[in-house]
Amino acid sequence: MHIQTPHTILKEYFGYDRFRGGQEKLISRILAGGDVLGIMPTGAGKSICYQVPAMLLHGVTIVVSPLISLMQDQVTALRDAGIPAACLHSNLTQQEYFYTLDAIRAGEIRLIYAAPERLLTESFLSLTESVAVAMVAVDEAHCLSQWGQDFRPGYLRITEFLNELPARPVVAAFTATATESVRADIRRLLKLREPLELVTGFDRKNLRWIVERPQHKYEALLNILRRNQGRSGIIYCISRKSTEEICSKLCADGFHAVRYHAGLSAEERTANQEAFLRDEAQIITATNAFGMGIDKSNVSFVVHYQMPKSMEAYYQEAGRAGRDGSAAECTLLYSPQDIRSNSFLIEHSDSENDRLTPEQRDIIRKKDFERLNAMVCYCSLTDCLRHYILSYFGEFSPTHCGNCGCCLADSETVDATIPAQKILSCVFRIGQRGHRCGSRMLCDILQGKKTKQITEAGYQTLSTYGLLGDVSRIQLEHMVNILISRGYLSIDASQYSVLSLTAKANPVLRGQEQVQMSLPMRDLRQTRREQQLAAMPDYGVDEELFQKLRRVRERLAAKEYVPAYIVFSDASLREMCNKRPSNEEQMLAVPGVGKYKMDKYGEAFLQAIAEYVSRQSSDTDPQK
Ligand code: ADP
Ligand code: ZN
Repeated sequence: MHIQTPHTILKEYFGYDRFRGGQEKLISRILAGGDVLGIMPTGAGKSICYQVPAMLLHGVTIVVSPLISLMQDQVTALRDAGIPAACLHSNLTQQEYFYTLDAIRAGEIRLIYAAPERLLTESFLSLTESVAVAMVAVDEAHCLSQWGQDFRPGYLRITEFLNELPARPVVAAFTATATESVRADIRRLLKLREPLELVTGFDRKNLRWIVERPQHKYEALLNILRRNQGRSGIIYCISRKSTEEICSKLCADGFHAVRYHAGLSAEERTANQEAFLRDEAQIITATNAFGMGIDKSNVSFVVHYQMPKSMEAYYQEAGRAGRDGSAAECTLLYSPQDIRSNSFLIEHSDSENDRLTPEQRDIIRKKDFERLNAMVCYCSLTDCLRHYILSYFGEFSPTHCGNCGCCLADSETVDATIPAQKILSCVFRIGQRGHRCGSRMLCDILQGKKTKQITEAGYQTLSTYGLLGDVSRIQLEHMVNILISRGYLSIDASQYSVLSLTAKANPVLRGQEQVQMSLPMRDLRQTRREQQLAAMPDYGVDEELFQKLRRVRERLAAKEYVPAYIVFSDASLREMCNKRPSNEEQMLAVPGVGKYKMDKYGEAFLQAIAEYVSRQSSDTDPQK
């Protein structure tokens, strides 16, 4: 028998050659007996961080996880990769439950997934008398914090459970929430001992970030679907109503779409989710109720039909695209109306938090609006979207990524000091009258429009009225957006998104600071950008072979009763198409193909590839 290390485990069971940023550090620390707190976004690879050490530690690992569906998915995937894992939850029959307990006692299981509420039950505690617990891994650890959105009282019992154990195991906590108050709660409530705390992997290089501010959202959506023909995608909507509307429209337009929200019957939800996971439905329209625990690896695009409530929510939802590492796009279709919808939700969201005092409620409301403001800012950006996202989550990055809607837009850098002064001074003049206004009204005034609101408020007498009548509307809106995103103007989502000057605006108004802006060249903008976007990196695989391998995968998945992506991801299949492995060794070099899966599935794929290759060469054989 050879000696196992984190690398051999990664290769043999998961089929990967290298750890991703941060994974290795966290794993080493766990193996050295230290606690960790890993802050990684969805899709960055948190689970490997406890699954790999679980195979090396002496004793079992208990994984605390919030959702049954999430546990089941993970356990299915682990078992399929040859890792003995089990879950204990209320959906098991009594027989299954006791059967699992026996297997654990017999030392046949390395990872036990359980909901927090189960930990202190008698049967679970008695387990820990017969097997040693080497590690407790807390997934979605932000559920501990009252300040997070998903507070779950059961999580507070984890500490109690740890106290009941004969020896304190390593505690490893993981979350995608980077806020300091949530992190502090996790450290404190779990009583982590000098944890290694790492923020990693927030950059998802294969994701292309795009914000569009279309006149007609549905048309914009159809454009996105056109450039993603035949690929799988999620469309997030802000309300149940809009989820249903978009789904019906898409179906009427010939797309195979299904819908998902908390108002549907449990049967319909499960059926729709399954249809999407198994690639029977190409598109799912959903509220944010969809997605927790969804590990579908071949989602090629995520569209937000409305702006979500925070960057945290956005990054988590959009992050469900491209989990297998293939190029994918995340597009947010923004309209100013979205600010009002979100403000409404914040104002009316405290019903579930009855236990809170008015002061606490006020703090939460204030934080919600701060998060919303940051989200609005993202939608107003004309500079690199990726840079903004990474800065928001506390990661350092270059100011130009080359793979986001803004970096790809055809633009020109110009000195815009004078128009910037005009815009800022218009806000100033309006303020002098004791008023404030949003960006649409501001642009109307600067362009000298004669709308009813303007005449009623008497704004045609402002000295700045009509000062930018010669600039195109698109350019003007862009300039205002830039001033917002760079912090010269602040936007207040809790007050009808009115704008006000910040201290940063003073030097510009006094002529002490120049403002460079990169502005879209107006007429070219839309068409060029469409072209750029249409040129999404193609996977460049032999489509026929790819489809053939997919059918093999389909067949094996049906036989094993697992979703297709658990057998191999699309990325693995594509790599097989490119490399066309002809023996076991070459097959093992394909990312995602570990030893165990090679034994289980490898032969079927090797055979399919060999068949395809020989048929191709006989087709092109001049002798025939
Ligand atoms: P998270 O729990 O952080 O949302 P997962 O643990 O589900 O993310 O991992 C996301 C995907 O990335 C999975 O398909 C996983 O197999 C893959 N992955 C994780 N680590 C690596 C790695 N080192 N190399 C390649 N793929 C990886
Ligand atoms: Zn960029």
